[in-house]
Amino acid sequence: MQTVSRLIEQFIPTHYQLSLAMRRTERTFGGTVTIQGNSTDLAETIAVHAKDLVIESVTFDGKEAQWRAGENDELIITHQDITPGKHVIVLGFNGKITDAMHGLYPCYYEHDGVKKELLATQFESHHAREVFPCIDEPEAKATFDVTLTTEENVTVLGNMPVERQATEDGLLVTTFQTTPRMSTYLLAWVTGELHRKTATTKSGVEVNIWATPAQRPESLDFALDIATRTIDFFDEYFDTPYPLPKSDHVALPDFSSGAMENWGLITYREVALLADPATTSVSSKHYIATVIAHELSHQWFGNLVTMKWWNNLWLNESFATLMEYIAVDALHPEWNVWLDFATMESIMALRRDSIDGVQAVQVDVHHPDEISTLFDGAIVYAKGARLLRMLQTYVGSNAFQTGLKDYFAVHAYGNTEGDDLWNALSKASGKDIAGFMNAWISQSGYPVLHASQKDDIVTLSQEQFFVGPHQPSEKLWPIPLNSPAADMPEVLKEKGADITRTDASLLRFNDGDTAHFVTQYDDHLLAKLIDEVKAGNLSPLDRLQLLHEQTILARGGNVRSAQLIPLLDAYKQESTEAVWDILGLTIGELKKFVIDDEPSEKKLRALAAKLAHAQYDRLDWTTKDGESETDTKMRATVIGVMLYGEDKEAIATAFDLYRNSPLEQLDAELRSLIIGTVVRHGDDASIIDSLLEAYKTTSSADLKQDICSGLTSTKNEPAIRKLLDVIKDEAIVRPQDVARWFVYLIRNRDGRVVAWQWLQDNWDWIEKTFSGDKSYDDFPRYAAGSLVTREELEEFRAFFTPMQEVPALARAITVGLSEIEGRVDLIERDARAVRDELAKL
Ligand SMILES: [Zn+2]
Repeated sequence: MQTVSRLIEQFIPTHYQLSLAMRRTERTFGGTVTIQGNSTDLAETIAVHAKDLVIESVTFDGKEAQWRAGENDELIITHQDITPGKHVIVLGFNGKITDAMHGLYPCYYEHDGVKKELLATQFESHHAREVFPCIDEPEAKATFDVTLTTEENVTVLGNMPVERQATEDGLLVTTFQTTPRMSTYLLAWVTGELHRKTATTKSGVEVNIWATPAQRPESLDFALDIATRTIDFFDEYFDTPYPLPKSDHVALPDFSSGAMENWGLITYREVALLADPATTSVSSKHYIATVIAHELSHQWFGNLVTMKWWNNLWLNESFATLMEYIAVDALHPEWNVWLDFATMESIMALRRDSIDGVQAVQVDVHHPDEISTLFDGAIVYAKGARLLRMLQTYVGSNAFQTGLKDYFAVHAYGNTEGDDLWNALSKASGKDIAGFMNAWISQSGYPVLHASQKDDIVTLSQEQFFVGPHQPSEKLWPIPLNSPAADMPEVLKEKGADITRTDASLLRFNDGDTAHFVTQYDDHLLAKLIDEVKAGNLSPLDRLQLLHEQTILARGGNVRSAQLIPLLDAYKQESTEAVWDILGLTIGELKKFVIDDEPSEKKLRALAAKLAHAQYDRLDWTTKDGESETDTKMRATVIGVMLYGEDKEAIATAFDLYRNSPLEQLDAELRSLIIGTVVRHGDDASIIDSLLEAYKTTSSADLKQDICSGLTSTKNEPAIRKLLDVIKDEAIVRPQDVARWFVYLIRNRDGRVVAWQWLQDNWDWIEKTFSGDKSYDDFPRYAAGSLVTREELEEFRAFFTPMQEVPALARAITVGLSEIEGRVDLIERDARAVRDELAKL
């Protein structure tokens, strides 16, 4: 793999003065940047980063200098006798504003029938170089004085508050206060027509939530409350004050990822920030709260203290993912977010991390184009967060908090590596943290703990857990067993151990699901645990953990998939929302075994409806006064299972609700299910057209998302083809939403074949539209998540193997091949037994 050089090794910037004119209507920008810094060596050249910029002039210490373009976005400046020490480089440059959602780009929206635009930036991971020449590496921290020239009568936002603003020749010139020392990837600007709501934290930090005029003012209130209280919470939890005078949060109509933690100016997708009281569901609100908490935790972890290089990206993302749960749990304890952690982060991590070829949390990064593939949500976010939670449990919450405070005190405005965090936590806890964590952070995969009992001897052993084809593995992990049984050891470091039981307590491991492993109990121990589920003696978390571990063990071939069917029966009294998520997921696991076998599929649908019936009767279709938010969320899960079960009454109710109220007034929690049912079971082609029209015209991102989810449920092939055409039409589907439409269609049992063919036929368009974007590798990843036959496996291999040299795709392709092969093998191995088991019902 090609390696890029680190430009900070030859020139260390200290201060930038940047003057930038944004000429929106001309789709160009240009300006001057003065870079002060120190060269490290006697040299004849200095390189800075610049990409797709036209350089107009360069001076070095006041004298004109020569320049040329080098490899890897380098601009090489030549000057005689560059001596070690202070220098000033001034560059004049111009560039083009393009639609790709990085660098400086336009966001499109419509308000009162008028088409309008904002301009926004996205610099992570290495896109600042597309807007001005700079040393574009996280370690190259400097202070920034920024002046922007824009149209008149617009709001102009930057990382810092405005220092002065004046109109000159019909243009608005805005100068911001000097930033603290920071990395280029965290700079941001947004300009355009915006409205806001404002509040102040206890410590006096101004918090603003911004949106375009197309969004109702009421939709800003929820985010404002969460953002303000989250800063208060972190001020106290980190015992380190929020580092800037203000905190802006802007909802952008076009945005590639979910949100971006730019220092003091966080940018979001509209759906990740705005909660309209009339149209936003409870689950969307919970999602918004976690996104805000995640981005705010970065203001400390990531922005105040930053990773040295991208191989330590996990330091930012794993930590922020853990903190989003810690913060939201403190703000809303009644939401039980640790159950959500178990049903979302843990499951994502366990599923992906079981495939051979997946990355470790900490990996080497040689080339900037690999950086985008590091943002593998299941590993760097979910698994990393699970590992940090394991560490928090291992050292205790108090030592964890003390260690963090010390870490911020020592490294504020600086850069760190993993060991710096381990040192701070070792000091606070008196434990050897590097020794405990390194195996977890630097090795991919996780162990399965085998537990069996004969007389009073319990035998424990560990081995790497795999789903699908894999190389033999000798990896070991120090496993914190977290057993409620007092006679079990704290940590299993070796391959195996025999332990004599001294009491008769129930044997369980990984209590609280805080450690990253799964347990395979012998038949006798498992039967005892299932009895406890039936007797109602286990907590919701324990119940869902047991069920989910059995589904993943079935994927790996450690247990037979057919065993899941009687196991479901043990959960027939279940009334907790989070456990129902896993029940739904377990039914989903079984679907792949009944493809193309109608009688078996009917049996599975009937089983699903039977299981959900008691809760369906309890919850009904309407929200009760004073019901818990978890019941409100659960209603959607249970009705979803009933609709999968093709319960006639449930389908008829969905049709009634659809006919009798406008889309905006449908229960936000159930709206996507209602639309999906009408699309799937209705035979009226005009439904698709009217929903597409509603999709096009609504300014509610929530409603758009539900219509997308509903429309893509269709089983009608011409409709599927039509939707696949529509997703290339930017006038209807924004590029940011294309991957979502695609994944819904390829996951649809009736859409898979057509959507897979569409991906192959339209790859040139996908490459052209998304190759510079973080979502590029979503396409092979989503395909690999859905393909089920051996022919499809071979097609995937033939299609993607030639692209294995593309750094941004390589990992998704390798892992994708293992994933599909694992699934095909599993279906061939277990389908007959699953169908036989279903036939018994
Ligand atoms: Zn993040």
